[in-house]
Amino acid sequence: MILEKIEALKVEVANMTAKNASEADELYVKHLSKKGDITLLMQDFRNVPADQKKEVGMKINELKQMCIARINELKEQTEVQESGDEAIDLTRTAYPIELGSRHPLTIVKNEIIDIFQRMGFTLADGPEVEDDLHVFTKMNFAADHPARDMQDTFFVEQSKLNDVTKNILLRSHTSSVQARVMDASQPPIRVICPGRVFRNEAITARAHCFFHQIEGLYIDKNVSFTDLKQVMLTFAREMFGPETSIRLRPSYFPFTEPSAEMDISCHICGGKGCGFCKHTGWVEILGCGMVDPNVLELCGIDSTKYSGYAFGLGVERITNLKYQVSDLRMFSENYTPFLKEFENAY
Ligand SMILES: [Zn+2]
Repeated sequence: MILEKIEALKVEVANMTAKNASEADELYVKHLSKKGDITLLMQDFRNVPADQKKEVGMKINELKQMCIARINELKEQTEVQESGDEAIDLTRTAYPIELGSRHPLTIVKNEIIDIFQRMGFTLADGPEVEDDLHVFTKMNFAADHPARDMQDTFFVEQSKLNDVTKNILLRSHTSSVQARVMDASQPPIRVICPGRVFRNEAITARAHCFFHQIEGLYIDKNVSFTDLKQVMLTFAREMFGPETSIRLRPSYFPFTEPSAEMDISCHICGGKGCGFCKHTGWVEILGCGMVDPNVLELCGIDSTKYSGYAFGLGVERITNLKYQVSDLRMFSENYTPFLKEFENAY
């Protein structure tokens, strides 16, 4: 009699289902509570003959364990359903996709921008595909200047040789952005123009057909070379450390007069001379000068009233100085072990 009850309950327990947690709780009350049918089996157990007690006792215990296990299983299932989504697996590793890192050129570009922004410069942007008017003509390049040659500049369209607005090219410097800013506004002007520029060069460890520039322009009343020098010194010290010295050497650019190349004291040897600075104690870093009055006039600014300075630096050049990357091509090869080295740079 009791063995039949146990067998019947085993079948019932094996087929138990629950739609939610409270139904699972009801099953517990029905079978395992003080008045549950499995608990009540113990009353019948008293009447079992002594020689069968061991076998029956084991079967009741087996049934009880089976029932507990089944109810726990049903509870787990209903909890997953009630959490709304079976696909959520809280034991999975967080972020299985590796995050990338900033490109070294972006790190250095942002650092340069940050320094000049703290000195009151704002950002200006312009197109990479430009016309001759903004890249060369307004920048005071002579009609026969070699930069206008196909060998130096990538022309997209060169249909009318004499119409500077019809000759379309990939800008060879970001000075075209300065031209656009001067065209569109009157002094005081204080901008920096970061961007990619293109030149028809063979790709080697030291030259590439594209690179990144940041040019700066400041135009106002009574701007002098002294202002330029102080801004350049502040930039060099912010970028390379407070001990840095600068030196300006006379140079020539079509758009500035006077013009200068700027060197900084070698930050590797502190100016004593080493292999990096070719034992001179100085490394070249940028070009600068006072904006040529012709450029101001060509861009609609009264050169008798206003003066200004401009400077231009290569982001790759500064990055090389800071991180000593020996081969320029590394920046554009997308070689992840190289890029990973900058993971901890900010
Ligand atoms: Zn040195």
